[in-house]
Order: sequence, then structure tokens, then C-alpha cells
Amino acid sequence: PGTERPQGRVVDDEEGGLLFLFGSHHSSSARHGYASIEKQRQRLPVSKYRTAILYLVETHATTIIVGETGSGKTTQIPQYLKEAGWATGGRLIACTQPRRLAVQAVASRVAEEMGVKLGEEVGYTIRFEDVTKPDVTVLKFLTDGVLLREMMDDPLLTKYSVIMVDEAHERSISTDILLGLLKKIQRRRPELRLIISSATIEAKSMSDFFRMRKKRREIENKDHGPQVEPAILSVEGRGFNVQINYAEEPVQDYVQAAVSTTLLIHEREPAGDVLVFLTGQDDIDAAVQLLTDQVQTTGKHSSGLIVLPLYSGLPRADQELVFSQAPRGKRKVVISTNIAETSLTLEGIVYVVDSGFSKQRFYNPISDIENLVVAPISRASARQRAGRAGRVRPGKCYRLYTEEYFLNHMPNAGIPEIQRSNMVSCVIQLKALGIDNILGFDWPASPSAEAMIRALEVLYSLGILDDDAKLTSPTGFQVAEIPLDPMVSKMIIASSQLGCSEEIITIAAVLSVQSIWISGRGIQKESDEAKLRFAAAEGDHVTFLNVYKGFHQSGKSSQWCHKNYVNYHAMRKVLEVREQLKRIAKRIGLVLKSCESDMQLVRKAVIAGFFANACHLEAYSHDGMYKTLRGSQEVYIHPSSVLFRVNPKWVIYHSLVSTDRQYMRNVLTIDPSCLLDVAPHFYKLQQSNHLLF
Ligand code: ADP
Ligand code: MG
Repeated sequence: PGTERPQGRVVDDEEGGLLFLFGSHHSSSARHGYASIEKQRQRLPVSKYRTAILYLVETHATTIIVGETGSGKTTQIPQYLKEAGWATGGRLIACTQPRRLAVQAVASRVAEEMGVKLGEEVGYTIRFEDVTKPDVTVLKFLTDGVLLREMMDDPLLTKYSVIMVDEAHERSISTDILLGLLKKIQRRRPELRLIISSATIEAKSMSDFFRMRKKRREIENKDHGPQVEPAILSVEGRGFNVQINYAEEPVQDYVQAAVSTTLLIHEREPAGDVLVFLTGQDDIDAAVQLLTDQVQTTGKHSSGLIVLPLYSGLPRADQELVFSQAPRGKRKVVISTNIAETSLTLEGIVYVVDSGFSKQRFYNPISDIENLVVAPISRASARQRAGRAGRVRPGKCYRLYTEEYFLNHMPNAGIPEIQRSNMVSCVIQLKALGIDNILGFDWPASPSAEAMIRALEVLYSLGILDDDAKLTSPTGFQVAEIPLDPMVSKMIIASSQLGCSEEIITIAAVLSVQSIWISGRGIQKESDEAKLRFAAAEGDHVTFLNVYKGFHQSGKSSQWCHKNYVNYHAMRKVLEVREQLKRIAKRIGLVLKSCESDMQLVRKAVIAGFFANACHLEAYSHDGMYKTLRGSQEVYIHPSSVLFRVNPKWVIYHSLVSTDRQYMRNVLTIDPSCLLDVAPHFYKLQQSNHLLF
């Protein structure tokens, strides 16, 4: 095993670490007093830099802060700013995160540290959930996507005195767009302060990005305004040594390998919690199940394990469990997506198991297909993951890949998401903000011209942009107002014209949650049978309407959900999202109307948004192979669809997931003539494209 020290210097005050571990964190107010939280705050690495941070923010337009995960950037810096008076006179301090779950978790932690109720002085906003109070909330945590949306009403974000763009190293697409726009805002609002914080050193390129041109600098310095050169501050972390262990041979099944490794750690290693990095809900649920089964069958020596999943979309109560301390004598195992890589810090982790993979977005502008793919992580990510083991004392990291692979094949750093995403939403948002020259926009990393052109073409065919590439009125502007994928928004707008908006809004709400079904090993048969009770010949979208109806008629009962293998938590979320969408629809002047049972109209509305995702069954395919009309990509119906094995001739899909094959999730049968009715220009264009090739 090689030894790597991912986190700064070695601090060998093990006792301090242990005290920290057993110190208060979650719901500590009951067991520990306020003082103990105060002590914890003082112990965080950033607290030594409090004065420096405040000085830099005071004197510089932009401050870049780099510090190891867990050093206190997210939870402390906003509090320092508030204490220093940046939130007086009706001004707010914003702190953005790429991930929703992180927004909720840090906001509730900060509220707890400040001894206030979440939603009062400290609040958060994520899509479809606003836990803030006007005139009361001064510290606001939000996703970078939500802050982008706020710019549509308040382009200069005037209510904020300081905006902290956190987790900038993740380079999420919204972070990059936000950084580009904030740079523009700064020119108009020299009093605005930006803090860019990140876990890894990429400070130089960020700093170059925010450095203003010389002329501007001279003008500003004459006015005695803040320094326009960005300041960079590096917060020294308090990490312990982490011993790295590699797999001796390539691992075939990383879920199984992660499970066996965890059991080995439990058997052989002294106390300390385990953090396992897998990729998404599916493999995490599978691993949780496998571990739980193991614990039950092998009995005694495994009984000290508490296995917990961590991914976005997890119910609130389960999220909180992850942060709570395992009872004495028990070992906590958290199986997580890469959300625990830098966004969230879990105390007490001593062992890390790294699968070497994460789910990443990939977009191919040629086929116009965007996919969430399980793909290898970068070496930078692998180091971050290992670092999680050294928070409280020296730890160990088990990499489920070989050292040779790590050294010679793993990519050094990830590619910014903006360079591997579909640009459709991004283009609409910039257009809605009045930024017309999108190719000339000042990006921290430029998206590809192909992706841009594809986006313009799709938006044009959806009737969202006109010939001059301006938002159409009203459709384009309405689409921009709906915080959903433009294709979904277009479907909603079409449904208002067709008279089936009640139904389509329900469908859109269901599509916005991960899955309304309960699935899992061991209950597959039962859940499939339950699904059949609701299955509609038209496909998944109409099936969702049946489920929603049943749920509604049952009086929104959790027993009903349980009996039908429907996820109650997801259905509550559907109700919430639905209400919000109705509110938005009313605001932008859409007509709310039910088509009763005319599913033909529902189908038309779906096609109006998703015609670009049309596929036909290959005539001689025995295994249900479809080809996309656009790009002729091979795709298959996902086993979770009610149309799996039914294989109708023509379908459109909502999204693709790729594992061994490309699978269509949420599929609807269509009549191909409908495609020409709804999008004649699009399919004509495709034909001429085909001729060209
Ligand atoms: P950074 O942003 O630099 O990664 P944070 O400010 O998120 O660091 O975390 C600082 C400390 O606060 C960590 O030691 C972590 O354990 C603690 N902490 C943060 N969020 C929570 C939470 N939701 N529950 C319990 N402890 C938390
Ligand atoms: Mg953080």
C-alpha cells in the first residue's frame, strides 16, 4: 500500500480529533449546550483566518478562498460576514451550492450553530422549496441555479451585499454561468463582494477570470473603490495521514467489491465509521441491501453495523440520520454519491471505500443525446475522496482500482460540466437575461460551438427562439419562466392551448421526482405486478396519471402507497411540485383545464415538447432495439417502463440512461404522423440533414 497525504500537515493531537468526533453536532442542542457548538466553531481551520477573510472581503471586489473540505468555509464564512455587518440595512448574504441536498444540510447546520430557527434569519431556497422569510432572512443558502433564476427578476441581484459561490471547483454548469454573469454584474455594482470558494487549488485560473482589464482597473482605483485584483487566500487544513490501499487486480463488480471491502474493514479494523463512494441511487440501494442481508445472515460479528444511504432525493429524516453519531459500539457505514466528496462533511469517518466512479453528465452534440453515465472519476476527485478518511485521525482509503490504473489511466482533472452538457437551458436563461451574443459571452470555460448550435436549432424548432435567435413572445418568455427543462416547459405551454394542462402538470410533477415506484431486490415481482394495475397502453406518462388519480382518491394515504408499491415520499413531493407549477402557470397566463379522459390530447402535448426524442422499433430486432429518428442511435426501453417488452412501433422517450446499453426512461407510444403535424420544420430539416450526410 502506498501512502499519500491528501490534506496538508499531519496533526497528531489524536485526542483533539476524538473529542471532535464525540463532540456535539447533530441535534446537539438537546444533549449539549450552545457553548460546545461555539467551541467546535473555534476549532475549525477557517476560524484562524476570520480577520484576514473579513479584511480581504472589505478591500477586494473578489476574494478566492481555497480550503480543504471540512475546514469550515461554507458554515463559517457567511456567519463571519453577518457578524461583521454585511447583512444590515435590508441586505442579504448569499451562499450558493451546486447541490440541493447540500443547501438544505448546511443551512440547517448554520441555523443550529446560530441558535435560530431554520427559515428565519437563516434560510434556504432550492427549486420548488423556499424556506426563507422576507425581511427576516439575512443568510440565504441556495443552489446556483436558483440564484440564476433570481436574476430574471432582479438582474443586478441588488438585495445581496456579498455572494459566496461555493464549491467552485466542481465547475457545475450553473456555477460557470453564474460566474460569467457575476463578473458582468460586478462592473455595474462595484460595491458587490464576491467570494469564490473551493476545495482544490484552481485559484489561479479563477483569479485570471475575475481580473478586470487594465483600463477599468485604473478608473476604479481612482475612485478608491475596492481593489479589483482578486485576492487569494488559502486556508490550511487539519488533515491526518491517509493510508491508500489499491485493488490488486481490476474489480469486476464494484458494488459487490465495495460490500466485501466494507465487511472486511468491519471485521479487521478498529472502531471508526466507513464512507463508501458509489454512483447513484440504484447501486447505493443495492449495496445497502447487500450489506443489510449480510448483517442479518452472518449474525453476530456484523451486527455492529449501521448502514445508511446518502444521495439527493433522500427523505429529510434519512438525510439527518447520516449526520448523527452512531451509538457506542456501533460502526456507521454511509454509502454515498459524490455528494460526500466535498459538499458535505461527515464527522467520524476513518475508512473510505472508493469505487473510482461517479455519475456524470455527457452530451453528444452530433446525436443530440445527453446522458448520465457512470464514468471514471479524476485523480483530483480520488484524492478528495481519500481525504475524507483523515478528518478525525489517521485513516485508510481502499481504492477499488489498481495503482497502475490510478497512475496511468485515470484522468488528472474533470472536464467542466458546461463542456459536456446540452446547452438548451443555458441558452434560454441567458437570452431571458438579455444576453444575445451567447457565443461571445465571457465564460470561465467555453462550451463547444457544436453544442451551442444544436441548442439554437432545438430551441428554434420548439418555437422558443425566432429567426433572429430572440425569445419568442409569448412562448419563449413563458418557457424561460418555468424552472424546468425547456422541453417540459414547452409541453406545459402546449397543454394549455390543447386544454389538458391539469393532466400535463401532474405528469411534469411526476417526471421531476426521481421515481414514484418502490423497487429493490427481493420485491421486484410484487412491485412489477402492482405497476400493472396502473399500466396504460399509451405508456408511462398516462400510467402516472392513473397512479396520481388512485393516490388522490385514497385521500393521499400512505397505506395506499405501501400497498401499491408507490413511494409515498415521492408522491408528497409530486403534490408540492404540482401546486407550485400551477401557481407559475397561472402567473404566466396559462389556462388550467382538464381534458377529462381524452388521452389523445395529453399525447399531443407531450409530443409538442419531446418530438425530438422520437424513436422507431427496428423491424428485424428481436431484442426490442429502437433507433432515434434523429441521429439513428440504438436505444432500448428501460425495464422500469410499462412498455418494456410491449415494444410498440413508434415511441418518444423522456430521458435516456446508459448502463450496458442506452435505455429510454418514461416512454409514450405515438402516431408518427403527429410528429410532422407538431414539428414539420424539425423533421424536414432532419431529412435534408440525412441527405447531406
Ligand atoms: P467546508 O465548507 O470547508 O467543507 P463546512 O463548513 O461544511 O466545511 O464544515 C465545517 C464543519 O461543520 C465540519 O467539521 C462538519 O463536521 C460540520 N458540519 C457541517 N455541516 C454539518 C451538519 N449538517 N451536521 C453536523 N455537522 C456539520
Ligand atoms: Mg463546503
